Amino acid sequence: MKEGIHPKYQEVEVRCACGNTFKTRSTKPELHLEICSACHPFFTGRQKLIDTEGRVERFTKKFGAQTAEQRKTAAKAKKATKTTTAKRTRKTTASA
Ligand SMILES: [Zn+2]
Repeated sequence: MKEGIHPKYQEVEVRCACGNTFKTRSTKPELHLEICSACHPFFTGRQKLIDTEGRVERFTKKFGAQTAEQRKTAAKAKKATKTTTAKRTRKTTASA
């Protein structure tokens, strides 16, 4: 190996958001995971959304929790307002 061009490849402790830790080797000083083999559904066998870091919660806080039903109603309301505006424009052009 040529001197001075390779990053240091040392032993690091990997920390997962679920609390699991294990050791591996990496050029990074530390590794932080969101999901690991101890908590991924493929390995646990549970079909469950894992949100250990609160990403889904943050999203719903930012954009509001929306169900499919709510989204449908919102889309309908938007369509209705669009058509009424179009009608109004047509009326004004006809009278003018
Ligand atoms: Zn994990």
